[in-house]
Amino acid sequence: LSSAISEVAKNFGPKRRISEKSIQSALRQVRRALLDADVNVEVADTLVEGVRKRSLGSEILDGVTADQQFIKAMYDELLDLMGGDSTLSPLASQQAKSVPAATLAVGTPEYPAVILLAGLQGAGKTTAGAKLALYLKEREVNYDMVDKDLDSAKMLASRLPTRNRKVLLVAADVYRPAAIQQLEILGKSIGIEVFSKGTEADPVDIVTEAIAKAKAEGFDTVIVDTAGRQVIDVDLMSELKNIKKVSNPSETLLIVDAMTGQEAASLTAAFNDAVGLTGAILTKMDGDSRGGAAVSVRGVSGKPIKFIGIGEKVADLEPFYPDRMASRILGMGDVISLVEKAAAQVSDEDALKMQQKMREATFDFDDFMKQSELVSKMGNLAGIAKMMPGVGNQLNMNQIRDVEARLKKNKAMINSMTKKERMSPELLITDSTARSRLMRITKGSGCRFEEGLQFMSEFQKMRTMMSRMQKSMGSAMDPSLAE
Ligand code: GDP
Ligand code: MG
Repeated sequence: LSSAISEVAKNFGPKRRISEKSIQSALRQVRRALLDADVNVEVADTLVEGVRKRSLGSEILDGVTADQQFIKAMYDELLDLMGGDSTLSPLASQQAKSVPAATLAVGTPEYPAVILLAGLQGAGKTTAGAKLALYLKEREVNYDMVDKDLDSAKMLASRLPTRNRKVLLVAADVYRPAAIQQLEILGKSIGIEVFSKGTEADPVDIVTEAIAKAKAEGFDTVIVDTAGRQVIDVDLMSELKNIKKVSNPSETLLIVDAMTGQEAASLTAAFNDAVGLTGAILTKMDGDSRGGAAVSVRGVSGKPIKFIGIGEKVADLEPFYPDRMASRILGMGDVISLVEKAAAQVSDEDALKMQQKMREATFDFDDFMKQSELVSKMGNLAGIAKMMPGVGNQLNMNQIRDVEARLKKNKAMINSMTKKERMSPELLITDSTARSRLMRITKGSGCRFEEGLQFMSEFQKMRTMMSRMQKSMGSAMDPSLAE
C-alpha cells in the first residue's frame, strides 16, 4: 500500500495547488491500492472522499511539495478514521502524537469490570486474554516518556487503562479441552488466577459463578475467554449473547487477526450487530499485515482498536496508537513529520525581521530567545537531525541531547535577566558590573556560575558570527533580492 500511494503521489510534481483534475486519477489509484490492501469497499470509498475534500484547495505549504501534501492528506484522513485527533493545530498535534486511542473501563471489587473477548477460532482470544491480564496487573510507568516530557507522560498515564488491577481469567471455551488447559498454563506463567469448571459445564454458568467469585474475593477485573468457530454461526452468536446478558460486560472486545483480509469488515459487522462491541484487539501485528484489517474494523464498527498483539509471548501487547498505525499503513512517517514541521514553522515575516536584526548586528538576548524558540517550534533537535539525510547517523544522539539541555538552561538564564540586560548584552560581558550580574542571574535560574560564563562566551561567538556572516554575504541576505 505504501509504495502504491507514494507512486500515485509522485505524479503531482512541483505544483502549487492540488487541482480537481490532477487528483481524480490519483484518487482512483489510491482506491485500488486500498482495496488491494484488503480494506473494505465502503470504508475505502469514505476514505477516498475524505482525502479528496482535504486535498482540494489546500494551499501548498512552503518547503513542501504537492505529493508530500497529498500524502499528508491521506495520513490525516486515516488518523481521523482510526480515532486519532488530527483536527488540532499542527503544533498541538505534534504534542498529541502517540497518545493511545482508548481506555478500558475500570471496575471495583464490588462491581468488577467484565471484559468479554469474542472472535473466530485462532484469532488469538486466549492469548489476548492472558496478555491483557498481565498488562492490567502490572503497574507501569513509561520511563521513555517521562525522560522526554513529563506533561506528555502524565497525559499518557491519564488515558491509559488503570493498571495495577486484580484480575481473574475465566475459561469459558468448553468445546476444546485444550483451550482450558492453555489458559491455565498461561495464567500460571503470569501469576493470574484462572477460573474453570471443566468441559462439561455450561459457559453461561461458568461466567455467572466466576463473577460471584470475583465479587467475593475482591477481584476488580474479570476477563472472559470464549469459544470461537472457524466461521460465524448462529450457535456461537447466541452463546455470546447469553454470556453477555449474565455478565453485563463493560467491554466487549473483538479479537481480530491482523492478517484477516476482506472478511475483517463482515466479521466486525456480524459481531457488532449480534453482541455490540466496545472495541477491538488486533492480533498478530508482528506479521506481514498490510493494515487493511485495522482500517476496516474501525471503519465498519466505529469502535476503537484498543490494543495490538505483537507476538506470541504474554508481554507482546501494546496500546493502539492511531498515529503510529496511520504512519505504518502509509509507510511514510518521515514525510508526514516534515509537512507538520513546515506547517509549524515561523512565518516569513518573522524570518525577515530576524535577518534585519542580524544585518544591523543588534542581536541581543531577546533575539537569542526567539531563535531558540524557532528551534523548538521545529520540534526537538534530535528529531530534526534524524530527518535530515545523512546527518542523523553521524550525530551522536547524546551530543544532541546535551545541546538541548544547554539550550534549556540558557533560556532559564535569559528569563532571569532584567529587560535592560536582555537588550544590552554588554552589561553581562564587558561592563564592570558583569560578574555580579551574572552571579545573580545564574543563581536565580538555578544554573552554575560556570554555565553562565560558558553561555556568555557562546553568545559572543554567535554574535560575532552573525555580523561576519552579514558582511560576507552582503546582498545575498537581502530579502528584497530573494525570490
Ligand atoms: P483463539 O483460538 O482465538 O483463542 O487463539 P489463540 O489465543 O489460541 O491463538 C492462536 C495462535 O495464534 C496461537 O498459536 C498463538 O500463539 C498465536 N498468536 C496469538 N496472538 C499472536 C500475536 O500477536 N502474534 C503472533 N505472532 N502470534 C499470535
Ligand atoms: Mg482460545
